[in-house]
Amino acid sequence: MSLQQPRFVTLSHVPWAAVTPKPAASMPHTLPHAGDVLSHIGNTPLLDLTAFARDLGVREGVGVYAKAEWFNPSGSIKARAALRIVEEAERTGELRPGKVLIDSSSGNTGIAYALIGAVKGYEVHLVMPANVSAERKALARAYGAKLIESDPLEGSDGAIVMVRELVASDPDHYFYANQYNNPANWLAHYETTGPEIWRQTQGKVTHFVTGLGTTGTFMGTGRYLKQRNRAIRLIALQPDDELQVIEGLKYLPTAIPPGIYDATLADRQLGVSAQETWEMTRRLARRAGLFAGLSAGASVAGAVRVARELTEGVVVTLLPDDGSKYISLGIFDPA
Ligand code: PMP
Repeated sequence: MSLQQPRFVTLSHVPWAAVTPKPAASMPHTLPHAGDVLSHIGNTPLLDLTAFARDLGVREGVGVYAKAEWFNPSGSIKARAALRIVEEAERTGELRPGKVLIDSSSGNTGIAYALIGAVKGYEVHLVMPANVSAERKALARAYGAKLIESDPLEGSDGAIVMVRELVASDPDHYFYANQYNNPANWLAHYETTGPEIWRQTQGKVTHFVTGLGTTGTFMGTGRYLKQRNRAIRLIALQPDDELQVIEGLKYLPTAIPPGIYDATLADRQLGVSAQETWEMTRRLARRAGLFAGLSAGASVAGAVRVARELTEGVVVTLLPDDGSKYISLGIFDPA
């Protein structure tokens, strides 16, 4: 077989080259479906945990589902709130080039601010209790954020007090994102997490179970779901008492109350222990192939407890982050 002579054509012979040049947005190198990393926040998968829950005594006729929030850029559910907070502040002019975004965070919101700051060009300062895991600090630093450590004995409330002092000392220098009191936190979930659950369950969700930290996830998702169907039960999870440490969750009776929290939204409050949380987190990895974080373990423990009481229903919870920030705690070590 002989090779064909290459055929050379001039541009004037190519029909599509004759048309007027396209505007920049539709230039041949522009791919409309490949947005920047921020455009991939939200729209996380809903995983079916029904078979996993069946082994724990959940009856036929009841489904258990969970959204895998580590699919969000920066690795946690908090990317949703952080992005909404930043974009709202840009819209109002509170955040503009040259301002430093500052907030207190036990990790995930801080890591999300750091990623968003890197993309949008803002300096980010984070106040974290000195004892948050080394992985959390390293991740925030990886995106270029500056860490300020607060007293480990004072926990996340100590970080809140310290960030308020810093902002008061130089208010013009900072944009104080204030996740505990900023309505954009819960609105992120009202506008994204809630509608996603409604759509992904085809409106069949009957129970929504999630943990309380800033309470943004519970307030926003819960308000949206109640508006769609008043019969949906909203169950809020907290550690059993203040001695049970579950990173990401708060024991509200002794914490600084988040301004965005309204306790009347919850149909029910459930307590979870640290031990139950660790066991469920380990079980998720070993039985369901889900390498999830501690608050995810607590959420599934709560969801399974609720589901076990039912004869029919669709119970939905959230897996706020993956297990990579908790390895050094020894959760996943062989028993
Ligand atoms: N789980 C993890 C791992 C978290 O980082 C947080 C945020 N503190 C939560 C759960 C609770 O989410 P929210 O702040 O929306 O109540």
